[in-house]
Amino acid sequence: MSVAQGVVVTMDGPAGTGKSSVAWKLAQRLGLEVLDTGAMYRAAAVVSIDEGVPADDGTALAARIAEEGLAFDWSCRPPRLLLGGRDLTERIRDADVNVVVSVVARQAPLRAALVDAQRAIGRAHPRLVTEGRDQGSVVFPEAVARFYLDAHPEVRARRRVEQMRSQGRPADYEAVLRAIQQRDHLDETRSDGPLVCPEGAQRVDTSMLTLDQVVDELERRVRAAVPVDRLAPPRAVQTA
Ligand code: C5P
Repeated sequence: MSVAQGVVVTMDGPAGTGKSSVAWKLAQRLGLEVLDTGAMYRAAAVVSIDEGVPADDGTALAARIAEEGLAFDWSCRPPRLLLGGRDLTERIRDADVNVVVSVVARQAPLRAALVDAQRAIGRAHPRLVTEGRDQGSVVFPEAVARFYLDAHPEVRARRRVEQMRSQGRPADYEAVLRAIQQRDHLDETRSDGPLVCPEGAQRVDTSMLTLDQVVDELERRVRAAVPVDRLAPPRAVQTA
């Protein structure tokens, strides 16, 4: 794959905007891979919890991750996340990780290490939808299309509650809303790589849109920005 055929699409925004689902569907339609950068910060939170490294010691967290080696297994879809010999794919979604991850993600030395790792992944996998908080602002500012997905906190909390209940997990709307607002605040107020709509990025408010409506709109915008031979053909052509 030559770099000339590279297509990087960034997708930033707060939790609960449907970013992950949108990224996967969009990538499938366009023939791209997906990089979940939140998973990398979650892995650092697991290191903090399971290995007793203080959540505010970014230098120690970055050192542990470098020693153990953090990598995705790209032969799986979605890629599994490995730290040394340990598969963290399920562990990073546990509730204790949600609590610690935004503290860990505020630490500048850790962010610097993960930003470098994300750029290296971008070089090895140059056809990518990459989602997170700083992908269009810091990591891939030159991406061919940069999106910022947003939605009202109440809508995001409602979606999260529905998702949890559909998985058979108990969910209290007020508690979920408070947790979302707290995480937004921590992500927006850090000095390094804060959650912002990158300058020149396209903001899409998903509050009143279905998942498919968001994906349709983003697909249209990416196809308008990228030479036709660099992307998978549109669905109408594929099914003809
Ligand atoms: O996307 P996800 O909810 O899994 O991200 C978990 C946390 O990781 C976010 O709340 C944020 O604090 C942090 N994060 C970040 N920068 C990214 C991706 C995630 O700071 N690029």
